[in-house]
Amino acid sequence: MKVLALGGGGFIGSHTVDYLLRHTSHQVVAYDLYDDKLADMIDHPRLTYINGDIRDDRKRVRKLIRDADVVIDLIAYANPSLYIEIPLEVFHLNFTENLKIAEDCAEYGKRLVQFSTCEVYGKTVVPICGDTLEDPTDPRHAVFNEDTSPMILGSVDQHRWIYACAKQSLERILHAYGLEDRLNYTVIRPFNFIGPRIDYLPSEQDGNPRVFSHFVEAIRTGGVMKMVNGGGQQRSYTYIDDAVDCIVRIIEDRDGVCDKQIFNIGTPTNETTIRGMGEQMIEVYKRRWWDGQASMPTFEEVSGEDVYGHGYDDSDRRIPDITKARTLLFWEPKHDLESTLERSMAYWFEGEGADVTATAAQDHAPG
Ligand code: UDP
Repeated sequence: MKVLALGGGGFIGSHTVDYLLRHTSHQVVAYDLYDDKLADMIDHPRLTYINGDIRDDRKRVRKLIRDADVVIDLIAYANPSLYIEIPLEVFHLNFTENLKIAEDCAEYGKRLVQFSTCEVYGKTVVPICGDTLEDPTDPRHAVFNEDTSPMILGSVDQHRWIYACAKQSLERILHAYGLEDRLNYTVIRPFNFIGPRIDYLPSEQDGNPRVFSHFVEAIRTGGVMKMVNGGGQQRSYTYIDDAVDCIVRIIEDRDGVCDKQIFNIGTPTNETTIRGMGEQMIEVYKRRWWDGQASMPTFEEVSGEDVYGHGYDDSDRRIPDITKARTLLFWEPKHDLESTLERSMAYWFEGEGADVTATAAQDHAPG
């Protein structure tokens, strides 16, 4: 099969390409603005890397789609600070440009695997009607199902949600194409994947990466871990290898089980508060890499507005319901939170290819 990975040079893309080259016999065409995350595989005989920007490369992208068997669309701005800084560009890329890809797939009769986001679920009901709920901490308020959960986004003034809105609109259009039998697609909603090669350290590049990179930097420098709005918000982290295992099952789509389906990919048992994640990362660091002398990071509470600017709002809690991936794809994530953090941190503390298998905490398959 010839797999076209648009955005194949990013964090999720590069791990997916790596897996396809190592464990399958598929041909892969990776299209991206950058190839640095593909460095280890760039000379592989079954990989063709194409450098380009879909925003000004329509003719060539259409031809690549026409020549592919399946198209994976990973092209996105997927970093909350960008939703605040460049909301229009976020919408333009995540909706307008991605819609063109979907239209091309429909025209050429190609199956599309569209990456979306768990942000489409927005917030739980707790920030809205917490006082009236019997138990606001009940995790059932935060378990999101692909086909039944409603989606609660903030006001237009809180423009963080423009990303979720762009992705949700795109999903709804794919669904409508499916209803009219004009496109075969699968939507993937990732729940906070982390692992080697995610983002960058704030000291190495301009910008504001996701929280994991900030916390790595704070540990490396004995600096400050900023707890936005107290750090009580919760996320469920998924190790990238687990995620890719599921992504590849979706790409291969045995017996068409993924056709016109939406899949959450996440690890429900890896839920943590952001503060809890910072604490656990420090514990992993102490156990694994600390020389007994370097100073430890300190915690500081900051407001979302101070860190991101006006328009920031947050998802309070999100837990994936992965029943569908379990039953249709027989997929099960294997890495617990400790192992997920340790393996992801090893990239920064030991370098690419760090072997954490010997000392990683016991992985387990969550029940
Ligand atoms: N956050 C934090 N400190 C930071 C960066 C982020 O407390 O230095 C919080 C952020 O407000 C959010 C959570 O960590 O509640 C996760 O943010 P991230 O940028 O990683 O992405 P998200 O999961 O919101 O897409």
